[in-house]
Amino acid sequence: MDEKETWHFIRFGKLNQNKDSKKQVENSIIQITSEKMLPFFACLWGELLLCLHFRLENLFMRVLIISDIHANFTALESVLSDVGEIDSVWCLGDVVGYGPDPNECIESLRHLPNLTCVIGNHDAAVIETIETEAFNHEAKKIIFWTQSALTDASYQFLRQLPQRVIIDQFTLVHGSPRHPVWEYLLDSQTAKDNFDYFKTDYCCVGHTHLPSFFYLDETDSQPRVSMITEGQSFQIAPRTILNPGSVGQPRDRDPRAAYAILDTETMRWENHRVSYNVPIVQERMRLIGLPQRHIQRLADGW
Ligand code: ZN
Repeated sequence: MDEKETWHFIRFGKLNQNKDSKKQVENSIIQITSEKMLPFFACLWGELLLCLHFRLENLFMRVLIISDIHANFTALESVLSDVGEIDSVWCLGDVVGYGPDPNECIESLRHLPNLTCVIGNHDAAVIETIETEAFNHEAKKIIFWTQSALTDASYQFLRQLPQRVIIDQFTLVHGSPRHPVWEYLLDSQTAKDNFDYFKTDYCCVGHTHLPSFFYLDETDSQPRVSMITEGQSFQIAPRTILNPGSVGQPRDRDPRAAYAILDTETMRWENHRVSYNVPIVQERMRLIGLPQRHIQRLADGW
């Protein structure tokens, strides 16, 4: 494993990879037990916290899975009012970037029940843990604007996001299990290589902004890829990589916000789409002076 990579469990304790991590782990375990979030076990390797597993049983039932909100608060609001009752939220990164409402999105996310969120490439660029050189000119411009707009509280939120979280049989990353921040899972060969980089039955990813899944069964040497259509509901089985699509900037030619619901009792995954007021978001982007191409693409869903 790349030692620079951070594996955290963030929701039930502040477990951070740093020199004082042993003390922090102790504190976190106390915090976990006091929150009655047992059973659990922690794996420690030297001073580095590798992973903390939680059993989903009795903890989560209806999980909202979202990704790539991209500072589009109107889209996020529409998802949250469409979703109904949920027990917890898994967010797969890129909370900011492209859109005009980074603080509003972060503030809203922070108040969602049992939130677990991993970092995306845009989030990482904004807090300067990756180089902005890797982004094109327009994306870079938006990153600089986002940096100027973020409140201290928003910065703090982004800075504590881990690259990878494991919850029971689910690994959560933004891009891919092999390269959590940057790699796109778009084809079956790349997906095939990535099945060796997570040990859980399932992996949830975002980054491509395409609702889709890659499925590998015992007889398969080559994963199958399938796009997920609106309203599609299916039983998930080991081993599968699942992508809920993007809330704030869908790229499957459907401009409506995408999200998924996972029922951890029945292990059913449902994909949903919800319309939102695109022109109002475009108007806010215009006022700020964000690039025209990114304003236009919201209406076209690419
Ligand atoms: Zn994204």
